[in-house]
Amino acid sequence: MKVKKINSRNIIFTYHIPDGWDLNLHLIMGDKYNYVIDTGLGSLSIAPVIEYLKDSEKPFLVINTHHHWDHIWGNHMFPDSLILSHTLCRDRIEEKWEDMLLKSKYLFGETKKQLPNLTFDNELYFAEDKIRLFYTPGHTKDSISVLDEADKVLNLGDNIGDSMEELIPSIECEKEEYMQTLANYKKLDFDYCISGHNVVLDKMVFDQILKLL
Ligand SMILES: [Zn+2]
Repeated sequence: MKVKKINSRNIIFTYHIPDGWDLNLHLIMGDKYNYVIDTGLGSLSIAPVIEYLKDSEKPFLVINTHHHWDHIWGNHMFPDSLILSHTLCRDRIEEKWEDMLLKSKYLFGETKKQLPNLTFDNELYFAEDKIRLFYTPGHTKDSISVLDEADKVLNLGDNIGDSMEELIPSIECEKEEYMQTLANYKKLDFDYCISGHNVVLDKMVFDQILKLL
């Protein structure tokens, strides 16, 4: 596992999964909350993030970028925290939990169903920390993104493909809807963009994807 700091308060924990893909868990250390973006493949996957914060007194605020198993299986490690997601994400975790366990060869440690307990449809803003969560359909219908307006870092979940060779993700929404999401990203003010599986990228990536589409 690699730990990389970006700008002043963004930390990326990257795991290499033996059959050839990477997984990024993302922490933003705000003034009021520690924002944990995605909880990975189970208890052992998220443990280093919790360990990293062992001396912090600020509460966790956990965010699920979408319902896929590789982003939520560590949720139960935050039994007393707010877990945020799109409304549809909560419904889909509930509905697909058993099916997703078919992927349990990827489970790292243990998992237990822990649903998001604060959901939204369009946008949520944490003014004290200048953190914005907003709806960005594309990869899935329940995808959200997180913008750290103070540190200028965007996390867009799986709305970018898993590697530089595969920049276009699998898209559940209509192509037009995904293109609109990309156009919206281009209007935002940020330096770095973090995704679930790819390397750290910058704004240029959206033009590359739009060209490929
Ligand atoms: Zn996904």
